[in-house]
Amino acid sequence: MPTKRDYYDILGVSKSATPDEIKRAYRKQAMEHHPDKHGGDDANFKELGEAYETLKDPQKRAGYDQYGQAGAQGNPFGGGGAGQAGGFDFNGAGFDFSDILNQFMGGSGGQAHRGPAQGRDLEVSITIEFIDAVFGTESDITLSLDDACEHCKGNGAEPGSRLKTCATCKGHGQVTRVQQTILGAMQQTGVCPTCSGRGQVPEKPCTVCHGAGVMRRSKTIGIKIPAGVDDGATMRLSGKGAAPKGGGAKGDLYVQIRVRPDRRFVRSGRDIHSEAKIAMADAALGTEIEVETVDGNVTLKIPAGTQSGKVLRLTGRGVPVLGRTNRGDHLVKVNVDIPTKLSAKQRQLLEEFAAESGSKKSFFKR
Ligand SMILES: [Zn+2]
Ligand SMILES: [Zn+2]
Repeated sequence: MPTKRDYYDILGVSKSATPDEIKRAYRKQAMEHHPDKHGGDDANFKELGEAYETLKDPQKRAGYDQYGQAGAQGNPFGGGGAGQAGGFDFNGAGFDFSDILNQFMGGSGGQAHRGPAQGRDLEVSITIEFIDAVFGTESDITLSLDDACEHCKGNGAEPGSRLKTCATCKGHGQVTRVQQTILGAMQQTGVCPTCSGRGQVPEKPCTVCHGAGVMRRSKTIGIKIPAGVDDGATMRLSGKGAAPKGGGAKGDLYVQIRVRPDRRFVRSGRDIHSEAKIAMADAALGTEIEVETVDGNVTLKIPAGTQSGKVLRLTGRGVPVLGRTNRGDHLVKVNVDIPTKLSAKQRQLLEEFAAESGSKKSFFKR
């Protein structure tokens, strides 16, 4: 692979250029190099696009700053070189690359934390009834979370006052530190602690939230739980999480659904299972019984000659397929009840029945 020109050089910006400067530089260069234009050049234009794609994305840019083009592609060490650099076996040294990556990306799961902060994701769990999981329900969750301050609308500045450039980061929203590591001096870039990554601070802090832009408050959120949801499912409510300090996008709210077990029904995917007991004679002769389903009582036909343990199907009485209207089935396992106590009359009839059906008579002899 031929060595490519530096992305910053291609765009003609400095290494500390702000996202705005990068965007402006790209637009200007793209006009000049556009292949449709006289004097334009396809190769240059492509190169320019590649540089911009990388530098406009804070995460890719961080990777590029640290590791060059390979870093921007999400694999800082090339295909086969992971764990090896200059003949040094990092794995053997108990050295974890992801630590470094996490550090320079802000320390949370490889997410870039440049630019305005993003609010925290929150997680709650709610328990609903079996029947509500089948047909869907609405539920209110009350939680205590960081929400945007109402007085300053979340920007931290007293209404009427302005925002000024952060002196700590000079408006970049990030600060770079150099740290000595096993790899040598490494630049670490993190969110500016003064402005939380915004690049601006209020001239006069909001009198209610003291400039934080957020207030802890109790909030009730109504959620619509879809029909067919199963135990353990998680719903993501986008933008219903915590608000970040100093304004910016709210995090998400993850709601884990727990379904309370029902003593009558057991769910298996979209089918519901239950059991029913029938009398011995009914099993032999056939009958109709009432069976409890999630739709209420339903008549189930027991065919003559039903064996104990037989599973009978009530089509369409199961759980709806999530997001659709068709439903699974309700399966009833039929248990034949063998009487343990017989009246004299019953005994006589059964003995006659046995004699008629050719059972060993000796069995009944007293
Ligand atoms: Zn700052
Ligand atoms: Zn405020």
